[in-house]
Amino acid sequence: MKITEIFEKQKRTFSFEFFPPKDYLTAVKFGINAGQLMKLDPSFVTVTYGAGGSTQENTFNLVDMFHNDLGFVCMAHYTCVNATREKIAYDMRTLQDMGIENVMLLRGDPPKGSDSFPENPDGFNYGSDLIRFVNENYDFCIGAGAYPEKHLEAQSEEEDLINLRIKVDAGADFLTTQMFFDNKYYWDFINKAGQKGIRCRIIPGIIPITNFKNIKKFARITGATIPEEIGKKMEPYKDDPKEIYKIGLELAIDQCRDLLDNGAPGIHFYTLNKSRAAVDLYDNLSKDFKEVKNRFEKSFSPHIPEK
Ligand code: FAD
Repeated sequence: MKITEIFEKQKRTFSFEFFPPKDYLTAVKFGINAGQLMKLDPSFVTVTYGAGGSTQENTFNLVDMFHNDLGFVCMAHYTCVNATREKIAYDMRTLQDMGIENVMLLRGDPPKGSDSFPENPDGFNYGSDLIRFVNENYDFCIGAGAYPEKHLEAQSEEEDLINLRIKVDAGADFLTTQMFFDNKYYWDFINKAGQKGIRCRIIPGIIPITNFKNIKKFARITGATIPEEIGKKMEPYKDDPKEIYKIGLELAIDQCRDLLDNGAPGIHFYTLNKSRAAVDLYDNLSKDFKEVKNRFEKSFSPHIPEK
């Protein structure tokens, strides 16, 4: 099923992002955590591609399993960094043959050890070029990335928004945001995107802070601001994982409540392949939001694969 078809039925979607486990031990942990999250009956799940050094082949294996063995609506992330048109065409056909109907198309980050993005004469240099190519040649629902605090490389917010509009015009059906910790960035971005004529859903990407040191690192890499109040609350407990978890969960509950209360079209959870924070967050949100309650209370029964 295409995610756009889910949008027709669900005003808000709740989705989880996973990355392919790297070895046997993390695969076992992944299985346990993914199993817990699947009980929450996500609207769809997504699998990252080549991010953080994970292998690209494993992304395809994992989306195959989610879709064909477990029957979940699944979206494969895909990046064009260092890929020729030929390889992209081959990979799109592979996904299509697996029955995957949803792809999150991104440019990708510069390869490890390089801080600039290499020119790619046989392929594409921007997410929008990849999106246009896939949209013109294949029948996928297409997601793309959006940056409420602007993409790190963009010279200005205005330039980034113009490029975002190009991405949507090229064929992106919806956008998912980079993580952010202060909702003012999201709402401001929604307004400005609207002014640029962007009308598709912009789903907020949320990561509950469960490890302050790691989050500070992610925030640096992605350009997300950690508000001073969060720093002040967490810094004294940075070596106390239990307290950090508690504070992080409370902050994430408040953040998601505010987003949902004010009309955000759902939440995309960056799970980091861990289940506890998302399950605890859902438990709390289920008290206020009917859609979350329904998911939280649903007892697990394996989905029936479509084919
Ligand atoms: P683009 O849209 O190509 O933009 C990159 C920069 O170029 C921006 O500064 C933009 O303003 C500028 N730009 C865009 N178009 C033009 C143009 N036509 N002319 C001039 N400038 C232009 N990375 C992975 O490796 N694997 C993943 O699975 C992954 N998943 C992600 C999921 C989400 C929801 C998000 C938000 C990001 C994800 N990323 C992933 C990270 C992403 O690859 C990086 O952020 C990357 O640097 C940008 O990709 P993009 O397609 O959004 O960039």
